[in-house]
Amino acid sequence: PVYMDNHSTTRPDPRVVEAMLPYFGAIYGNAASASHRFGWEAAEGADRAREQVARALGAEPREIVFTSGATEANNLAIKGAAQAYQRRGKHVVTAAAEHKAVLDTVRRLGREGWEITVVPCDATGRVDAASILPVLRPDTVLVSVMAASNEVGTINPIREIGRICRERGVVFHTDATQAVGKIPIEVNDDHVDLLSLSAHKVYGPKGVGALYVRRRDPMVRLVPQMDGGGHERGMRSGTLPVPLVVGLGKALELAMEERDAESARLLVLRERLHRGIAGRVEGIRLNGHPTERLPGNLNLSFAYVDGEALMMAMRDVAVSSGAACTSVDPEPSHVLLAMGLDEDMARASLRFGLGRFTTEVEVDFAADAVAEAVERLRVHSAAWAF
Ligand code: PMP
Repeated sequence: PVYMDNHSTTRPDPRVVEAMLPYFGAIYGNAASASHRFGWEAAEGADRAREQVARALGAEPREIVFTSGATEANNLAIKGAAQAYQRRGKHVVTAAAEHKAVLDTVRRLGREGWEITVVPCDATGRVDAASILPVLRPDTVLVSVMAASNEVGTINPIREIGRICRERGVVFHTDATQAVGKIPIEVNDDHVDLLSLSAHKVYGPKGVGALYVRRRDPMVRLVPQMDGGGHERGMRSGTLPVPLVVGLGKALELAMEERDAESARLLVLRERLHRGIAGRVEGIRLNGHPTERLPGNLNLSFAYVDGEALMMAMRDVAVSSGAACTSVDPEPSHVLLAMGLDEDMARASLRFGLGRFTTEVEVDFAADAVAEAVERLRVHSAAWAF
């Protein structure tokens, strides 16, 4: 089958795998061992990776905290900041279309005595920057809004939101897991205080990510969520997984080098896929913003088609569906519902994630497969006949 699920995860780039290999073997020291060359060698690899990650964000290496991925980075950012600033206030703001790693973390704070405001998104999945200022209160300490949606690819105005937060002295966190390496992000220009990212969304290994933590103008405080040996400046104890960290650094270096050319290439392929489907299938709806969206994302709903059946029919094209994005959660996508879709249209959606290894041949194959599946399913749909 053709792989078009690059928002779920990506195939590791062979250049990333190659960079990691020595660290799975000969270079096995503990990066925290400062007294011998085994440790120094490992530390050199980790230091280089820290620089590569920092460079991708316009940050400084000492502002990067390695984590096990974006889920952990989001937990550390949100719980860590909420706890650190709780004497100033216990009000946290986030948005309806966030990833569960943000929403569920904020919900837990809500059960533990924090007050939560969830701002809505518009019909394209976008947070209006103007909706932030009216919900800020004297006791608001943290705002968390994602940079780009993992479902509909919509890009949020994080620079404007960051500016509003900075002016009001509120910490601004952005989950940039889907955005880093794909669209320009610069923590200073964008007034970002905390930023989460993950290696496996940018052709790196699974199980590693990072949190950017602003160290000046202003310095942001966090309460660590993992206590122990005091690694990562005390913010995340635990021996560094040096091979993974090296892979993260290499993945981001490559993503930055190739970002602009790759974005342009993906945009052409994405439009080709959209046209290929729209030219042959009626009753489709584009979910997400028409232009302010990740170049590799296409999210479509198909009227009068059963979502589960559509997903089953997509055997030769690996995509995700709004019907059951995780098997433990059979509810239709909370993101599509927040955008105002009804349950049927939310279920009957497909998310195409094009990536670095997607080819034109694959795009044409996918367009054929989708058109054929939808036509076949509609023959059986009574509603379509009317
Ligand atoms: N946030 C967003 C926006 C994501 O797309 C993902 C991955 N689905 C995560 C967080 C979680 O990342 P990880 O798998 O690295 O924990």
